[in-house]
Amino acid sequence: MSTVILGGGIIGLSTAYYLAQQKEASTTSQSQSYSLYIVESSPALFESASGYAGGFLALDWFVPAVASLGALSYRLHRELAEKHDGPRRWGYGGSHVYSLSVEDVGVSGPGRKARGEDWLLQGTSRAGLVGTNSEADRNSHVSHSQHADRVNVNADGTPAVFTPQPGGTLETIAGPEECAQVEPRELCEFLLDECKKMGVEVYLSTKATRVLTDDTGAFSGLKLQSTDEDRPAEWDVECKNVVLAAGVWTPRVFKTLFPHSNWQIPVEPLAGHSITVRSPRYNTPFVDPSKRRIGGGDENWLCYSIYCPPGQHWPYAPEAYARLARNGETELWLGGLNHSDLPVPELAVDVKKMIDPECIKDLRKTTVQLAGLAKEGDDLNQDDLETIREALCFRPVSSTGKPLLGQLPEKYLGGVRVGGGGIWVASGHGPWGITLSLGTGLVMSEMLLGKKTSADVGLLRVA
Ligand SMILES: Cc1cc2nc3c(=O)[nH]c(=O)nc-3n(C[C@H](O)[C@H](O)[C@H](O)COP(=O)(O)OP(=O)(O)OC[C@H]3O[C@@H](n4cnc5c(N)ncnc54)[C@H](O)[C@@H]3O)c2cc1C
Repeated sequence: MSTVILGGGIIGLSTAYYLAQQKEASTTSQSQSYSLYIVESSPALFESASGYAGGFLALDWFVPAVASLGALSYRLHRELAEKHDGPRRWGYGGSHVYSLSVEDVGVSGPGRKARGEDWLLQGTSRAGLVGTNSEADRNSHVSHSQHADRVNVNADGTPAVFTPQPGGTLETIAGPEECAQVEPRELCEFLLDECKKMGVEVYLSTKATRVLTDDTGAFSGLKLQSTDEDRPAEWDVECKNVVLAAGVWTPRVFKTLFPHSNWQIPVEPLAGHSITVRSPRYNTPFVDPSKRRIGGGDENWLCYSIYCPPGQHWPYAPEAYARLARNGETELWLGGLNHSDLPVPELAVDVKKMIDPECIKDLRKTTVQLAGLAKEGDDLNQDDLETIREALCFRPVSSTGKPLLGQLPEKYLGGVRVGGGGIWVASGHGPWGITLSLGTGLVMSEMLLGKKTSADVGLLRVA
């Protein structure tokens, strides 16, 4: 029997990847007749948050309900990267993490850090979620200075990609054993290729318009509609399970399929502009390739993350990632300019048209102050950064601030009975969907196959 995944972002892809892998490993006759489809409404993949996110990964910056999923995900990211040359293929690398304050005038005030799940909405920084420096972090800062001769560093041992700020305080808050980075679009591309190799079918420009039921009134499949000229305009697909993994569009997908339900999927949009640039001061991705170890160790000064509370030069809380892209190319991603009131368009490909040039200008100004060429005796730095990409995308933020994972109870389906299968949801990952993607995919696949899950996600299920 088949499973249809609605949404081709990183959550849909990760779910398909682990499900297909487990099905491939299984030798039962049941698995031979199994089909797996990803249905994606846009004509192109990764035009959503999964294609434009920052790609920061954390081991343990989560509330207790998400901690087990976070730890599983972090481990899976590292294992996947080790197995498939992640550093070269999707820029996986351990990250040093800094917090930079420059005359802090932000809403949280000097020395106060946001806790819990509301930091984004409060305009405070992701860095507020991490505890005080661990012993490992302090040591990593020391050894970083010791290796100053081998990497592009400032005189004080901090990475040269970030321009020293007069009057600024730079603090190390985490190290590469517990934080990492990926280029999220490239990770998605890897997952997509692997899915296709395992026989997963991907339908672009396609939507599910209604659920089908059998003679007994139980759920039996979906009616699909496509504007892809290589496909029929409309056809039916039989399936046992449907996974709603359409990011910020998940509530709309649910409403379309279950119009008589009086329940809503509690996921709201939080949009964010970002820019990606190339800096002449970040050009040494692998310090010593022969000794390179993934995710930590003395020779692994691959990526740098910096969080800044609102301050003299920026009225919002910028986050910047000096990260790797494919084949060791270096780039700097900067975001933090967020909007909770932007409407979500029908298709992800239409988000591009909504990019606000003023916001991009603001981000550019911040990037130049944070990473431009320092100008002596002057407050303003010079812009010697080359633009790679300007973007806008929507985070799917749940009302609890935690992802929603699992089977939807029949009582929410507006009279549709599920029979032997189920309607599942994997959404609401907010600002952590790249980090939590792989764990979510594995856990969802285990749930779909009726297995014990590798992480405790009991508190993430829809009640
Ligand atoms: C600016 C920004 C920076 C971020 N930085 C980070 C970070 O550093 N670290 C981190 O862990 N997370 C980060 N995130 C969060 C992360 O990007 C998201 O949580 C994650 O990408 C969500 O993935 P998704 O697959 O649920 O949704 P999406 O990526 O939005 O994918 C949903 C897919 O569903 C498709 N779809 C829509 N409607 C339908 C339909 N009717 N039928 C079928 N398909 C449909 C869409 O076209 C899209 O392809 C960031 C997010 C933003 C916005």
